[in-house]
Amino acid sequence: MFNIAVLPGDGIGVEVTEACLDLLKATQSLCGGPILQCTTYDAGAQHYARSGEALPAATLEACRRSDAILFGAMGWPDIRYPDGTEIIPQLDLRMALELYAGVRPIRWFPGLPRVLTDERARAIDFVLVREQTEGLFYARGRGRVENDEEAYDTMQITRAGTTRVSEFAFRLAARRKARGKSARVTCVDKANVFASMAFFRKIFEEVAARHPAIESDAAYVDAMALTMVRKPWTLDVMVAENMFGDILSDLAAGLIGGMGMAPSADIGDKYGLFQPAHGTAPDIAGQDKANPCAMFLSAAMMLDWLADGHEQPQLEGWARTIERAVENTLAAGAAMPMEYGGRAGTEEMTRAVIAALPQAYREAA
Ligand code: ATP
Repeated sequence: MFNIAVLPGDGIGVEVTEACLDLLKATQSLCGGPILQCTTYDAGAQHYARSGEALPAATLEACRRSDAILFGAMGWPDIRYPDGTEIIPQLDLRMALELYAGVRPIRWFPGLPRVLTDERARAIDFVLVREQTEGLFYARGRGRVENDEEAYDTMQITRAGTTRVSEFAFRLAARRKARGKSARVTCVDKANVFASMAFFRKIFEEVAARHPAIESDAAYVDAMALTMVRKPWTLDVMVAENMFGDILSDLAAGLIGGMGMAPSADIGDKYGLFQPAHGTAPDIAGQDKANPCAMFLSAAMMLDWLADGHEQPQLEGWARTIERAVENTLAAGAAMPMEYGGRAGTEEMTRAVIAALPQAYREAA
């Protein structure tokens, strides 16, 4: 049995989490094997408004005790701390649990309307690894404004932080290579301008030298933004500083048409948190309009991570079944998310993916 701490959060985070728990229940009864004991905990902006606490100590403790964390989305524009900053407990969780690798896989799904007209865009299949415990986000809560004239935020790059996230990217590339995929690791930085970024690249290259079987290179972040739009099918695994990774991951989601197909995992040496790459989407919250697929694919990443860490190949079977069910639903046109101009809201999308599970299970076996 695995204990899963579920933090639905705010806005569409709550809606896609509910959909995901239904999907996991259906997958469990279809595939059998380990039991996932999912327990929901309070955290987020709405909880802060009610209680004055964004991330209660009991919730953090439950995350520490659990085998994995399933996270919706948190934050709400109108609910802020007294200093005007937003409620973003996911950043606190990343720091508290040392979730240093933000893993954001992006691939194109047959059946979705294409954003890029080039035929080769069907082959988009890359992973962005975002460093999540330092970089420019180190400045959060530390920035200063002097005399209402000048403002400063400091970027922190450490040898230890860059080494562990680069090692993670190379291990991930090795797993891709083992599955027959191309697996070059690209360091994304601004080494031509900043000492911190030149240091980031230097450490990356030291790590690369320890992985001679995996190809590697480096690109400046501005050039990478262009490459991502011009020929994203050439990209495999990228590793970037926190802020660059933040920006590039939204661009990456845009390449496949929206946030609703972009899953993510926040991984550390001990803990793993799985959440869609999107936020709480206040503009569509409460209207049954959210595409739950990013959440479903994040749950599949959680199952893969549990399977890996606990030698539970059956959970890998669940992950492939969920992925295949999403793929088949879109490819067959059984349901098209509103985000892509279709008519399916969260509930309809969820019903369609659950209905696709039995065939997906047979195909994935
Ligand atoms: P954050 O800063 O927390 O990432 P945000 O407000 O910048 O949040 P999102 O909440 O991800 O960004 O929303 C960006 C846009 O994408 C919004 O227009 C939102 O409606 C849309 N969007 C995000 N997720 C989904 C989804 N699952 N389905 C449909 N549309 C979505």
